[in-house]
Amino acid sequence: MQRIIYIPFDHLHRNFGAMKGAEPKTDLIAFVESARMTTGRNWNPARLHFLISSARHFAQSLKDEGFTVEYLKAKTTIEGLKEARAIHGVLPIICAEPSSFKQYEQLQEFGVHFVANDFFLTPRPLFKEWADSQKNFLMENFYRQQRIRLNILVEAKKPIGGAWNFDKDNRLPPPKNYIWPQYLEHPLDDIDRQVGDELSYPPPTTWATTRSGALAQLDNFINHHFAEFGPYEDAMTTDNWSLHHSLLSPYLNNGLLHASEVIDAALRAFETGNIPLASCEGFIRQIIGWREYVNGMYWFFGPHYRENNQLNAHRKLLPLFTDSNKTSMNCLKVTISDIQTRAWVHHIPRLMVLSNLALITGVDPQEFLDWMREVFIDAAEWVMVPNVIGMGVHADGGQMMTKPYAAGGAYISRMSNYCKPCKYNPKLRTGETACPFTTLYWDFLDRHREAFASNHRMSQQLAGLNRLSDLPEVNERAREVLEGLSKGQI
Ligand code: SF4
Repeated sequence: MQRIIYIPFDHLHRNFGAMKGAEPKTDLIAFVESARMTTGRNWNPARLHFLISSARHFAQSLKDEGFTVEYLKAKTTIEGLKEARAIHGVLPIICAEPSSFKQYEQLQEFGVHFVANDFFLTPRPLFKEWADSQKNFLMENFYRQQRIRLNILVEAKKPIGGAWNFDKDNRLPPPKNYIWPQYLEHPLDDIDRQVGDELSYPPPTTWATTRSGALAQLDNFINHHFAEFGPYEDAMTTDNWSLHHSLLSPYLNNGLLHASEVIDAALRAFETGNIPLASCEGFIRQIIGWREYVNGMYWFFGPHYRENNQLNAHRKLLPLFTDSNKTSMNCLKVTISDIQTRAWVHHIPRLMVLSNLALITGVDPQEFLDWMREVFIDAAEWVMVPNVIGMGVHADGGQMMTKPYAAGGAYISRMSNYCKPCKYNPKLRTGETACPFTTLYWDFLDRHREAFASNHRMSQQLAGLNRLSDLPEVNERAREVLEGLSKGQI
């Protein structure tokens, strides 16, 4: 053996990262299942199961190919790598650039040699070049540049269909009496069951843990959901937990699928003429726009960005985040219990229900970030830091997003069927049955009036606040709601 290739649990692809060009004759492959990773935090067991079982399946596929594989359990990653060297000699260790600052630093300190991280379509230096050239970091500007650079849905540098995005055709509320396609189930195998036993957790069949399962999920999305993806991508309904979402982010984020494979499949389907442009563009934007942008911003902002708390939010994490019985708010009950079941809800409940609540109640951003990292199946550090600190709770003072994503109950009422059975009324801002979102939205604006005064994108909201004749009553009700939420009684 000439070298050790270390495979982190989010680099599980044979043709990308350090495995590209690897040879069974010369390369020993090392995986480390560290105690820090498995027991260090209060991880959602569905997430833990998915990550560990996927890594063990990938390790098995490499053994089947003829590689010598060390799958080590150790206290930390570095301890595991030392063990690999103790068994096989002090060989050089190779790894693709890790996906978090912390791991980058630890491995670099240990002397691991990095090859470029090509699990994204945008090399880190290229993103930096773009960000350095911008006054503000509008995702839309980055996305348009990506479309041209990658030659996707463009002709002569102009967007096909005459527009860069078709959100006006999307953003529909959930349809009534609609037949949703069946979910794809992924039967458990021996490795899945073994990991489940070790974690004392019976895993759901929602998530694949193999490359072939991830490819089947991609096919399922393209064949049964892609055409309808756009119109309902922002809708929330108790009729169906996944709607027409692809459910591909776990596989993209642990490496079982590469972004280029997903884009190629989407464009091939679009070329058949059966996929409306609005759906195709909306999906492509998630992959070559948002996903790349968020990863780029993580590296661009640096390791201290996650510590931002520019709205001075210090409330402890609300009890409802860990126990859906601690609230009567139907939108939260549904969202939290979905997360407990399968470690996933789509981007709108994450942004407009969970983060919105954390934002307008003033939950400590780092506590909320930790919770978001722990509960979602696809919650890599690089995903969650910009998404929570920048987008979700505006803790960076607007470095990433020009205005906070704060909303009252009217948005949730329009985009879901959650409000009808709820004991609260999204139209009311005062009184016992007022929707907590609606009350707290106005109270939040009032609390941060000064901070937002110079932000012209907030002028409409502040003008609305100034027109409220019952602001003292709203503030009074907000105090009761905040106290009740902190006690788990709202
Ligand atoms: Fe949520 Fe308010 Fe609607 Fe109830 S009324 S489901 S609390 S948005």
